[in-house]
Amino acid sequence: MTEQRPVNEAAAKPAILPDAQTVTSVQHWTDRLFSFRTTRPASLRFRSGEFVMIGLMGDPDPKTGKQKPILRAYSIASPSWDDELEFYSIKVQDGPLTSKLQHIQPGDQVILRPKPVGTLVHDALLPGDRLWFFATGTGLAPFASLIRDPETYERFDKVILTHTCRDVAELEYGRRLVDHVKSDEMMRELTDGGVDKLVYYPTTTREQSPKMGRITDLLTSGEAFRDLGVDGITPETDRAMVCGSMGLNTDMKTILEGFGLEEGANSDPKHYVVEKAFVG
Ligand SMILES: Cc1cc2nc3c(=O)[nH]c(=O)nc-3n(C[C@H](O)[C@H](O)[C@H](O)COP(=O)(O)OP(=O)(O)OC[C@H]3O[C@@H](n4cnc5c(N)ncnc54)[C@H](O)[C@@H]3O)c2cc1C
Repeated sequence: MTEQRPVNEAAAKPAILPDAQTVTSVQHWTDRLFSFRTTRPASLRFRSGEFVMIGLMGDPDPKTGKQKPILRAYSIASPSWDDELEFYSIKVQDGPLTSKLQHIQPGDQVILRPKPVGTLVHDALLPGDRLWFFATGTGLAPFASLIRDPETYERFDKVILTHTCRDVAELEYGRRLVDHVKSDEMMRELTDGGVDKLVYYPTTTREQSPKMGRITDLLTSGEAFRDLGVDGITPETDRAMVCGSMGLNTDMKTILEGFGLEEGANSDPKHYVVEKAFVG
């Protein structure tokens, strides 16, 4: 007769990741970009525009067999009221995290450390008339959250989202999102029609498109202002959030300070805020 042992339930189940959330959908936009949605921990509160650490378990150590999580900073692309979380991601072919993350499927688990932080938040800006979001590449992610937040339209009369990428296909996630925000019945209701205040200004730097050029050049030449029918940027009326490469952020700081804007922070709200879209 075989001995009956109590079943070890934890051992019987597949390994559950710490702080695990379940992937609910995945969409690939180009060979370098994808977005995905996950369940949201009931206890997670965040401000639209903030980022969290997300990741996957790494491969087992060949000697010890132990696995360590590979975690990276990710802006939450969904607004704070959404039941799920959305992320917009690069695929770096030899990147420790995204070489694996790009293969996730609905039902898979990702690790999410529920400690949201960041400077691209309304609390870091003084009140103003017009809000500019300046993004390159995946730097769009925090603004994907903020353009779906009713507070953005309560605080400002006009919201201008600029997004610059090398190729047209890299604009597609943002373009669809803006279309959705402007046409969706629930978004209109949530913002009391405020979404009509949103102006979208996409540009490409490599592939031919209706508007070509770096946003920095388009601002300094005044072309962007002429296109948008805006007089310029002043500390009296304008507020700005910037999210892109180190180069974009540095150049945008110089440009915005040239217009007289001062950099703000959560503890000291001013005219503009900046965050890196990635390190390197
Ligand atoms: C505050 C903050 C928020 C971030 N939010 C996002 C986000 O919402 N979406 C996202 O995809 N990434 C975001 N990142 C970058 C992210 O943390 C990782 O770097 C990225 O997921 C790649 O991870 P990896 O381990 O594959 O490669 P890593 O070793 O982290 O990066 C390898 C190299 O790839 C390049 N790279 C990394 N990320 C990007 C990127 N997003 N765009 C272009 N080149 C990149 C850099 O040259 C980097 O040195 C954010 C970074 C910071 C600091």
